[in-house]
Amino acid sequence: MDIKAIDKQYVAPTYARFDLHLVGGNGSILIDETGKEYIDMATGIAVNAFGACDEQWKNAVIAQLNCLQHTSNLYYNTPSAMLAKALCERTGMKKVFFSNSGAEANETAIKAGRKYGELKKGKEYYTVITLKNSFHGRTITTLSATGQDVFHEHFTPMTDGFVHATANDIEDMKRLVKAHKCCAVFIELVQGEGGVTALDREYVKQVEKLAREEDLLLMIDEVQTGNGRTGDLYAFMGYGITPDVVTTAKGLGGGLPIGATMLGQRAETLFAPGLNGSTFGGNPVCTAGALNILQRIDDNLLQEVRAKSAYIFETLQGAKGVKSVSGLGLMIGIESEKDASSIIASCMARGVLVIKAKNKIRLLPALNIPWEQLKTAIEILKEELAK
Ligand SMILES: *Cc1c(COP(=O)(O)O)cnc(C)c1O
Repeated sequence: MDIKAIDKQYVAPTYARFDLHLVGGNGSILIDETGKEYIDMATGIAVNAFGACDEQWKNAVIAQLNCLQHTSNLYYNTPSAMLAKALCERTGMKKVFFSNSGAEANETAIKAGRKYGELKKGKEYYTVITLKNSFHGRTITTLSATGQDVFHEHFTPMTDGFVHATANDIEDMKRLVKAHKCCAVFIELVQGEGGVTALDREYVKQVEKLAREEDLLLMIDEVQTGNGRTGDLYAFMGYGITPDVVTTAKGLGGGLPIGATMLGQRAETLFAPGLNGSTFGGNPVCTAGALNILQRIDDNLLQEVRAKSAYIFETLQGAKGVKSVSGLGLMIGIESEKDASSIIASCMARGVLVIKAKNKIRLLPALNIPWEQLKTAIEILKEELAK
């Protein structure tokens, strides 16, 4: 069977796929339909946090599958309660709402922001400030939050109530707070799809201060940066701020769909029964897997993430064909002198999978990628960058 042809005929063509059909994997090694092996430096876009077919995660998922696959939210289930408890204990947040994707986690954050505005200042205070060049998801409202015009084309009108500030320019955000009736600020700390750039620490502190002074909810989109990716459990912890809402998804599920919206002390009472919901949210199989993932992102692993990050920065910064290296932890963007797509293609031919973010080469390896595989992949990438 020609799977590529069947896909082309029957799957909606919303994705420009690489010419690669993956059929299996083990840790940071993936296998295509011809049996060729690849070192995986992308993890399904920061999703397979512990690589492919991770034994412990698989066991947690299978154990839950043998008990009960779904309950609905009309009833209690053990894994979702235990995951919410672990998330709160590790982050200082107070309550968690579970959904199935990053976009949905962000929709819930936006609802929290609007509810807060109504409660504190009045119904007309519904505007959320996000950043230019941000990415918050593909639903109409999270697209509206996304500060990149290209994503808005064809789908207007956008949801009302979003304005976009220039990143790392606190005066621009102050201007928007004055000009609009705002309820919240919603930002990524490392813009992922926008080109893997970390916000300045001082700027983030100023945003926190402004949010407090103006009584706006401080909401952080950690869909990509969360769950150990940046070298802290959540990136906000490394930035030393106390957000009111934190969203996450991607890596939390270890490969199964999950979204989580964590609510801090200012936001924990915003949702009463009936104000939000999700049929699959908190699904016991997904949350059992996520609990296993979260428990294993400990200080040792985070230290390893930071060491591997330092190795990549040191190896590629100033290397031949490299203009710049950006990002945080194991979320890294490389600006190359040559066209990024051609380097990505030649890496793939040599058995290394890397992806793109804007004009950069993006690296998102498993948090536990073995050193040897990491070094092999980076050496091949370095050679291709230099050609
Ligand atoms: C991937 C991503 C999203 C969207 O997540 P989905 O699960 O695809 O809906 C939102 N925000 C950020 C920062 C992301 O990286």
